[in-house]
Amino acid sequence: MTSYTIGENLPLWGGDDTQTITFIVTSDCNLRCKYCYVVAKENNKRMHFSTAKKFIDYLMSDKLNRSKKVVLDFIGGEPLLEIELIDKICDYFKIKAFELSDEWYWQYRINICSNGLLYEDEKVQNFIKKNIHKISFGISIDGNKQKHDLNRVKVDGSGSYDDIMRILPLWKQQFVPSTKVTFSSPDLIYLKDSILALWDLGIYDVAANVVYEDVWNTGDDKILEQELMSLADHIIDKELYDKGYKCTFFMDFLGGFNTQGDLNSIFCGAGKMLAIDCSGNIYPCIRFSPNSLSNKKAKVIGNIEKGLDKEKLRTYACIDASMISSQECIECPVAKGCPYCQGFNYDESKNDTIFNRTVYHCLMQKARVRANDYFFAKLYNQKGITRENYSSNHQYLYFILSDDYVSFCQFENKCNSHKTMNQDLIQEGLNFCRENFYKPVFIHSNELYNFESKDFYDSFIIEHIIPIQNYEHSKTLKNVTYVIEPDTLGKLRNRISRCIFNINQDQIDSLYKFITEVFKFTDRVNLNVIGLNENFQEDLYQEQLMQISDYLVQCFKITGEVKEINVLNDVMYEDTHENCKAGDRLFAFAPNGRFYICPSFYSNNKNDVGCLENGINFDNKLFNAKSHFLCKNCKANQCLNCVYLNKESTDEFNVSPSYQCRKSNIELNVAYELQKRIPEAFINSVKLEKVKNLDPIISAKPIMPHFDY
Ligand code: SF4
Ligand code: SF4
Ligand code: SF4
Repeated sequence: MTSYTIGENLPLWGGDDTQTITFIVTSDCNLRCKYCYVVAKENNKRMHFSTAKKFIDYLMSDKLNRSKKVVLDFIGGEPLLEIELIDKICDYFKIKAFELSDEWYWQYRINICSNGLLYEDEKVQNFIKKNIHKISFGISIDGNKQKHDLNRVKVDGSGSYDDIMRILPLWKQQFVPSTKVTFSSPDLIYLKDSILALWDLGIYDVAANVVYEDVWNTGDDKILEQELMSLADHIIDKELYDKGYKCTFFMDFLGGFNTQGDLNSIFCGAGKMLAIDCSGNIYPCIRFSPNSLSNKKAKVIGNIEKGLDKEKLRTYACIDASMISSQECIECPVAKGCPYCQGFNYDESKNDTIFNRTVYHCLMQKARVRANDYFFAKLYNQKGITRENYSSNHQYLYFILSDDYVSFCQFENKCNSHKTMNQDLIQEGLNFCRENFYKPVFIHSNELYNFESKDFYDSFIIEHIIPIQNYEHSKTLKNVTYVIEPDTLGKLRNRISRCIFNINQDQIDSLYKFITEVFKFTDRVNLNVIGLNENFQEDLYQEQLMQISDYLVQCFKITGEVKEINVLNDVMYEDTHENCKAGDRLFAFAPNGRFYICPSFYSNNKNDVGCLENGINFDNKLFNAKSHFLCKNCKANQCLNCVYLNKESTDEFNVSPSYQCRKSNIELNVAYELQKRIPEAFINSVKLEKVKNLDPIISAKPIMPHFDY
């Protein structure tokens, strides 16, 4: 349960092991909606009962590998035109399932999505009363009267809104009302009013969407964004977010890069769902049926006489997001949750294939993600409610608030200048983040604390990195990581949830002493060894880490709680390399208004990689973890692999120096021992293996002239 309902998905009956069977009972309809996907409304096509009966017989035969639960979905045209047929089909299904002791007898649901015009009809009402506990009944209402009547018109061209208002009380009395609303270019301006109108009518669950079609005009994305942001403000001002209302324009999981798992799966259920039409042909879903396709012939994957054609079905088992997406979609920072429809992909494909992905709605999806970021940031900053179910796969922009920013990674910032970033620039940088989907991280001065929070910041989730000596000044900020150093350890007097402990490599012999001191105030320490070079004392480091490992074991045995230190614990939960992300998914924004690969590149007067006006122009080919040859062959997944250090020591961004590699592999070996000693503390962790060669180059390139191993 989240602390908000707006932002949650709509309730879905059945869960993962559920399959939808759609009966296209008629192509006839008593409305003429302007956006209707039913391309051919032929009023003489209706399903015969014998067709549906044969299909049910086939579904319940032992020829199919089925889901445990089933949704019998009735669709048209307008399905209520065929209510007697639907009633007969449902009765037949129930009797057949009962006779066969089929598990579907207990696990089925009837779903009807109607325009509502025939809702009060006696036969419809009888059917509803007979199946009342098994039906989900959606009626399409497009929002307020203006928007609804713009599209949902009767045969004579008049709007159907007033007809729906007439049946609304009865519908609400019989069901938890839900509706689908679809927006295209002309009606975007009614969006906010439409959603509010639906909620006012008592329709709490609103499945809202924009069309996939090529209908969008320049500037439509800005209208969508403004409408959604204005709706978000209203929701927050009136505190509607936890009152049971839902609208799928707001979804907490939207945004972030694809994970490998996302790329290996497919967004929609075509092939798992099945649809059958009046002719007895079976389709992967309704959008592959002749009624729904404008450009292509229907994709028939079987018929009621011969059943499913297993050869044709193979395609739907062999498709995933990586195969249909362009490189732009694969690498898109907001790919998570970006929808597509396989039927529409097929209809629009050039080569008569379903291995295609339409992107007409791309800008609209990006606008939607921005509005979601705005909504959840305000919810968090103004109401203290955290966004849940949200990916951690994002790109970051580090704001250098002052030239003397606190060191927070392997690079030691020795600059004393107090040149700071002004408010206007901060605001412009934040706008850049919103436009381009970067998460802002503010790196504060190591000395002065002159940061002032502004109302404008409320619409962003900002992370802060602040030296511990400024703890008192910054207590009211959220999302703070405090930086502690041996000299400032005495300033640590309160419990903190996130911290970085900086230690110079020359002080490594006191590591255990310092870390156990920090653990008195927190359960997790991010250790950062700065100034790393070839003089790093590896044996000493290993010895100190082993002592820390003993301490972690002891703590666990006494309290049952796991204390964490990044260099030992993170490798247990990472199965791929991420590196520090600089130059790939992390950039810095400096007080001079320009972008850099990371703060160290700014501090060392390296070339910038762009400015606010032109954005970040950078070929990140060498910065992605996949292009680091050594890292590809290394299991030290906790390693941050500093590209600045790489460039300084090996002259290349993607080749790391031996001391960095050996340090990380020492950590891996100590983590391996730790995991072995208390496996019960690391349930669901990656099973670690001990490495023999601390430097992965030895196993990666065993034969190389002039190379001293
Ligand atoms: S369609 Fe656009 S928003 Fe969606 S994944 Fe592709 S690039 Fe990203
Ligand atoms: S590359 Fe990463 S670790 Fe290295 S200095 Fe830049 S931000 Fe820090
Ligand atoms: S230890 Fe070396 S090879 Fe392994 S991830 Fe780190 S930099 Fe890459």
